[in-house]
Amino acid sequence: WFAGVQMGPPDAILGVTEAFKRDTNPKKINLGVGAYRDDNGKPWVLPSVRKAEERIVAKQLDKEYATIIGVPDFYNKAIELALGKDSERLREKHNATTQSISGTGALRIGAAFLSKFWQGNREVYVPTPTWGNHVPIFEHSGLPVKKYRYYDPKTCGLDVKGCFEDISKIPEKSIVLLHACAHNPTGVDLSAEQWKELSQLIKKKNLFPFFDMAYQGFASGDVDHDAQAVRIFEKDGHLYCLAQSFAKNMGLYGERAGAYSVISASKEEADRVISQIKILIRALYSNPPINGARLAAEILNDQELRAIWLKDVKTMADRIINIRAQLKGNLVKLGSSRSWDHITNQIGMFCYTGMTAENVERLSKEFSIYLTKDGRISMAGVTSKNVDYLAHAMHEVTK
Ligand code: PMP
Repeated sequence: WFAGVQMGPPDAILGVTEAFKRDTNPKKINLGVGAYRDDNGKPWVLPSVRKAEERIVAKQLDKEYATIIGVPDFYNKAIELALGKDSERLREKHNATTQSISGTGALRIGAAFLSKFWQGNREVYVPTPTWGNHVPIFEHSGLPVKKYRYYDPKTCGLDVKGCFEDISKIPEKSIVLLHACAHNPTGVDLSAEQWKELSQLIKKKNLFPFFDMAYQGFASGDVDHDAQAVRIFEKDGHLYCLAQSFAKNMGLYGERAGAYSVISASKEEADRVISQIKILIRALYSNPPINGARLAAEILNDQELRAIWLKDVKTMADRIINIRAQLKGNLVKLGSSRSWDHITNQIGMFCYTGMTAENVERLSKEFSIYLTKDGRISMAGVTSKNVDYLAHAMHEVTK
C-alpha cells in the first residue's frame, strides 16, 4: 500500500548534527543546533528549573489529565509574561489562551484555528527568510504562504524599505507572521520606532498580526524588553494572535511548554474562540503534557523562583552577547577586510553571517565546523574555548 511513498529529504538541521557526530576531529564544532549551551559546550538546566523540579517532586502530585487547554496556573501566567501585568486586555479577559505543545504546537493550533475560522484572505505572509517550519505549519493547515522582504544580504541587517513596501502591498485582511524578537534565522529585529511604524501600517492595511515569540528574554536578557513588539501592538489596540515557547527562555526544550492566545474584541468573543480551540485540540491530541507546564508555573507564580529565573535568562543572554563580541573582535584582530559588525548588531541565538554555501562547505571540510548552508551560526555553540579557532576558520574561508 505504501510502495508509492517516496523517500523524503532529511531535515537540514539534523543533517548537520549527523555530519558533526561522524567527524572524529577533536576540534570539531556544531553550530547547527538551536539550543543553548554553556561555556563548556554542554546543555544547561537552569537552576530555577532544578529548584522548581525539587518542589514539584516534594508535592507528590498526581498524573491525572490536564484540561484540554492545559494547566491554568501555567497558561494564565504565560500570557501575562508576554503582555505585562498592566494589560487591560488581560484584566478584561479578552484573551483566549491555551497551553500548547511548545512553540511549534502553538503555531499549529493557530494555523488550524485560522484555517477553519479566518474570514479574510487565507494567505499568510512570512518574512524572507523565516524559520523553516513556518511554511509547512501553515501549508499543512491549508493556508498558502507568501513572502515579504525582510533581510538585506548587503548590510546583513533589516531591509527596511523592502519590508515596509511589501507589507504595504499585502491584500487587506491577510495574515502576517511577525517574529516578536530574536528573528530566526537572521538575528535581525526591528527597532522600537520601526515596530511602532509597522503597527500603524498593519492597522491601516487591516492585516491580522500573528506573533511568534520563541525567545522572550533570550535576546536582551530582559523579558519585558523582548516583549516590546507585542506590547506596542497591544497598546495600539490590534486584534492579533500569539504563539509562545518556553523551550529557550526556560531551557525546557523537550518538556514542550508553550501557549497560544487569540487577543479578541471582547470577553464574549474570547469565550467563543476558546470553545472552538478546545474542539480542535480535543481531536488533535486531547490535552497537553503536564510536566513542563508545572515547572514553568512553579517559576512564574513564585517570587523567589521567578527572581532566580530572570537571573538565569540574563546569564544565557549575556553569554551570547559576550561571545558575539569576542567572535567579531577576533575577526578584526586577524585582519579580516570584511565588516563583521552584524555579528554584534544581530541578537538572540542566531547569527546570519553572510557566508556563502561555498564558505560553509569549506568550514566543514577543512575545519570540521558544521552549520546550515545559509551561513547561519547558532551562537550557543560558540564558547570561550572554540571562539579563536572559529574566527580563524571563518577568516580563512572568507579571505
Ligand atoms: N518559532 C521559532 C522562530 C523558533 O525558532 C522555534 C524554535 N526553533 C519555534 C518557533 C518553536 O520551537 P519549540 O516548538 O521547540 O518551542
